[in-house]
Amino acid sequence: MNEDLTIEHFMAGLIKRNPNESEFHQAVKEVAESVIPFINQNPKYKKARILERMTEPDKVISFRVAWEDDQGDIQINKGYRVQFNNSIGPYKGGLRFDHSVNLSVLKFLGFEQTFKNSLTTLPIGAGKGGADFNPKGKSDREIMRFCQSFMTQLYQHIGPNTDVPAGDIGVGSKEISYLFGQYKRLTHQFESVLTGKALEFGGSLIRTEATGYGNAYFMEEMLKHAGHSIKGKSALVSGSGNVALHCAEKIIQLGGKVLTVSDSSGTLYVPDGIDQEKLMLLKDLKINRKQRLSGATELFKSKYLEGQKPWSIKSDLAFPCATQNELTGTDAKLLFNNGCIAVSEGANMPCTPEAIELFKDNNILYAPGKASNAGGVAVSALEMSQNSIRMSWTEQDLEEKLHGIMKNIHNQCVHHGDDKSRVDYIKGANIAGFIKVADAMLAYGVV
Ligand code: NDP
Repeated sequence: MNEDLTIEHFMAGLIKRNPNESEFHQAVKEVAESVIPFINQNPKYKKARILERMTEPDKVISFRVAWEDDQGDIQINKGYRVQFNNSIGPYKGGLRFDHSVNLSVLKFLGFEQTFKNSLTTLPIGAGKGGADFNPKGKSDREIMRFCQSFMTQLYQHIGPNTDVPAGDIGVGSKEISYLFGQYKRLTHQFESVLTGKALEFGGSLIRTEATGYGNAYFMEEMLKHAGHSIKGKSALVSGSGNVALHCAEKIIQLGGKVLTVSDSSGTLYVPDGIDQEKLMLLKDLKINRKQRLSGATELFKSKYLEGQKPWSIKSDLAFPCATQNELTGTDAKLLFNNGCIAVSEGANMPCTPEAIELFKDNNILYAPGKASNAGGVAVSALEMSQNSIRMSWTEQDLEEKLHGIMKNIHNQCVHHGDDKSRVDYIKGANIAGFIKVADAMLAYGVV
């Protein structure tokens, strides 16, 4: 027990205990690489086997979701809630409805959430859930029936002081409303059991915008620390969902020029930049009319690059805001060759380990999602606070709080990740996020 913990030994044990979960292995390895040297310098964490305990979810709930489609046929999906760690507050994290959802993906997301939620400094633990249900192409009534069946299984495991889910890919305000309606029907309780609710029944202003806005704020802080700013810089944004469109909006407000947004079929490239007016049209196209980006070329006098990602276009900044592992080593090389100076993740784990290595080797500033996209969950926690005191804060109050939280997360990363010549934001985020949760776990004894 006196020898140092090694990354190889730790990872071999983790992989043996969790076979065939590549996304989970990837997320844990990234944390282990920065946290294990820190643990070796602080034997109290090693003796209590905190990292081993932190990588095992508190509880994994898995259930059947049966529902009837519009043809009257019975459909069956797999539903999950991974309650990862409640050392510093009730489990908190989104629900994802997507065909790609499985336990490995939810465990990686729940594990990342532990560090992200700790970084916000708010009293929230970590969880993640969802189903392998694909809402694309489903009617509103099918989505409603699915959400009702999903909540019928989930409701007994959640509560305002137990576990408070939110949205994620495929779960927006409409789905949260159906889920909340069913929770209320089953429990006869109107309580803060979900965040991302509509304003009429307990939602918070700027929750929708918070993840994307927060990501742009984080980039601004990172650039400021290095003597730059977003103003006048060109930016590539991937995705065209909630995070991407609001990230683009804040970049524009901060004086940057957004050249792209994308979806899973290709990239919309607007060489003159997407201005606020075009962004409003895009929001209408994607959010209200649920159309594909390929239909927007006429409207924008732009090119749609079918089957292509944004990363081959020359730009100063990159904001991957779509999904995990969307920016590979090859993409990172393209960004570097085109003079990109900084990357800030809006999505969870969008850059592969090869891409991150390349950023490091070439001094490209890089912000990991657990720090840069924490704005969403932070405003979710503020939604819980507003519900508890039965008050609503103004948009200006909330945006100031969000901005302050992102600055604070940046400062924590600098404090724990500054190695004189540069800031290692991964190390900074991992160690800062780890300490708070680890100290709470130590205080509780062996549980
Ligand atoms: P949305 O469902 O609103 O949007 C997802 C976007 O990503 C869509 O434009 C989608 O395009 C695109 N996309 C999905 N898969 C791929 C792919 N394989 N290749 C390229 N594009 C793809 O989700 P969000 O914006 O809410 O979430 C995006 C990311 O941000 C996720 O990683 C999520 O976990 C993370 N995140 C979200 C938070 C939130 O508050 N919503 C909080 C923190 C993190 P298409 O329409 O073609 O599928």
